[in-house]
Amino acid sequence: MMTVPEYFGSKVFNDRVMKARLSAKVYSSLKKTIDEGTALDPSVADAVAAAMRDWAVELGATHFTHWFQPLTGITAEKHDSFISPSPDGGVIMEFSGKELIKGEPDASSFPSGGLRATFEARGYTAWDPTSYAFIKGKTLCIPTAFCSYGGHALDKKTPLLRSMEALNKQALRILRLFGNTTAKCVRSSVGPEQEYFLITKEMYDQRPDLRYCGRTLFGAKPPKGQEMDDHYFGAIKPRVAAYMEDLNEELWRLGIMAKTEHNEVAPAQHELAPIYTTTNVATDHNQLTMEIMQKVASRHGLVCLLHEKPFAGVNGSGKHNNWSIATDEGQNLLSPGDTPYENAQFLLFLCAVIKAVDDYQDLLRISVATAGNDHRLGANEAPPAVISMFLGDELNAVLEAIENDTPYEGAKKTQMKLGVDVLPGFNRDTTDRNRTSPFAFTGNKFEFRMLGSSNSIACANIMLNSAVAESLRVYADRLEGADDFETALHDMIKNTIKDHKRIIFNGNGYDDAWIKEATEERGLLNYRTTADCMPHLLDKKNVEMLTSHKVFSVEELRSRCEIMLENYCKTVTIEANTMADMAKTQIAPAIERFSADVAKNAAAKKALDPRILCSYETGLVRKLSELTDRIAVKVDELEDAVISLHDADGVVSESEMIRDKVLPKMCELRLSCDEAETITEKAYWPFPTYADILFSVR
Ligand code: ADP
Ligand code: MG
Repeated sequence: MMTVPEYFGSKVFNDRVMKARLSAKVYSSLKKTIDEGTALDPSVADAVAAAMRDWAVELGATHFTHWFQPLTGITAEKHDSFISPSPDGGVIMEFSGKELIKGEPDASSFPSGGLRATFEARGYTAWDPTSYAFIKGKTLCIPTAFCSYGGHALDKKTPLLRSMEALNKQALRILRLFGNTTAKCVRSSVGPEQEYFLITKEMYDQRPDLRYCGRTLFGAKPPKGQEMDDHYFGAIKPRVAAYMEDLNEELWRLGIMAKTEHNEVAPAQHELAPIYTTTNVATDHNQLTMEIMQKVASRHGLVCLLHEKPFAGVNGSGKHNNWSIATDEGQNLLSPGDTPYENAQFLLFLCAVIKAVDDYQDLLRISVATAGNDHRLGANEAPPAVISMFLGDELNAVLEAIENDTPYEGAKKTQMKLGVDVLPGFNRDTTDRNRTSPFAFTGNKFEFRMLGSSNSIACANIMLNSAVAESLRVYADRLEGADDFETALHDMIKNTIKDHKRIIFNGNGYDDAWIKEATEERGLLNYRTTADCMPHLLDKKNVEMLTSHKVFSVEELRSRCEIMLENYCKTVTIEANTMADMAKTQIAPAIERFSADVAKNAAAKKALDPRILCSYETGLVRKLSELTDRIAVKVDELEDAVISLHDADGVVSESEMIRDKVLPKMCELRLSCDEAETITEKAYWPFPTYADILFSVR
């Protein structure tokens, strides 16, 4: 049997393979492109393509694909085989530099939000050499960006790469001011912790809501849920362990550093965390991870649910986006250093993040907005929809001391003078374990916890990189023109703390009192739903910031806003239709059958002895009958609400109708059905209950 180091990355055209298979000249030219973003020489592309093909064919690949991330949020691929006819009637395996660099998928059915006229439906894909090619099944996958012929981004990778470049540019300006002349680039890196549910395929197949919507639309609270906290970090069941082992092996072969795994709070809920890496690679890896999680599950007779809220009343699933920025020389810019100068630089980068999160709360909220995640945010298990930052007591005390020019009450009582004093060491102690904060400093990185489990992490990181780039731009503009660098620096840090401290909150983010304080006293934003926040993508300040850093064009922003809202409307409409269908064709008939049998029993008893009261049966039948009547009314109302969407004047108004009419009707219908479930004999219930599903994997 091969050991992990032997097979790790065996399906990746990584640096090791490149070094071994490319000539020294081609290798160094490609490496320069990867590390510094220089343009690739066409002859180099041919040599790389040939080496990739040979390597892939040796590993059994027959096809190649440009692998990309359209705005649907999942990945797309169109396979072409390597074969090309040879004069002797056979075939040879061909793959040119041109095919490596550019593809033209027929992608007319991907959403473009009006960016692409039908006559130019094809769009093109362009190789991203900074993310390694890999083999999936029998296909060589080449990570690519996806654009329209007009040059508009139609995917998530393109703006992500642009945002990384924006951050790089502004961060380097700051580093130069601090006398760093050697760093060639600054990159953001991410380690996304992925939560998910595992249930048996047998249960899944019996529930149309799970099959069509990825979440349950009905289900009474089970007698035992997560209240005992006995699942969290508990022993992993053998079937789950076998799944994880298989999953890890597949991920490791693809060079994905899956590192930790454990049970989560809810029964059947688990988490997988990789070791962090450069943001665009982490994004590709997370997309692949989600895909492989589902694929491996099906091999084990299981289904992996990535929905943010598969079960009402049970914790949902999120994704913690651990984010930091570092130089190519390995200096983490969010790590407090050992010297006063490093400390000052750290504080400046820290302030850049504080300013960014406060100024662009709306963009961060928008970046995690989906119909699914709306159910999770603020549901007492996940951060609220209000964004705030947690810094921990020690760092907070330092910032307060700077703001007020007061002595810092640290290990020794000293006045903090930037550029002179050394910061105290920060313990990664219990304080950074405040799990209720949407955006927490955890020692040398920030953990953004609002992402939904099924979200691509691209969106959140695009906004984060861009907003921080903007803070750094403002700082660099001011510092580059300053007469006295140190005074200017001190004032700027002080002013940032003054101006933006409203975003810092170290208390319990799940508390209702906090939401009141945040919105009423601090003026923080609280966009509860996707319909509330998404239109603000087009607010002047946001458009100005994102276009000035060339992350998006105005047209791209308009199209994205439209696509995201369309997606929200479609998702909820499908759920509403599924609910009406299940209520009409499964739930109501099941209740009827049960109640008919109860009535039949009562009649039989009465026939036996007319003195028997049958008050139990009578009461039950009356209650069930009330419920089916109510269900019928609620189904009608829900269906009317869905029909009324035709009157919507554009997607913004449709999304508001979804929020105000459709979603409330869904809740009402569910309430009656769930109530009926609790008094209907289990054998009659038409699909597995929460208890069946949540405790199905043993
Ligand atoms: P936990 O949050 O469970 O205590 P850690 O904080 O050690 O665990 O790590 C959580 C995630 O953060 C992991 O994916 C890890 O790779 C990632 N991480 C650690 N350091 C950094 C960093 N400098 N930049 C980005 N991600 C990081
Ligand atoms: Mg964590």
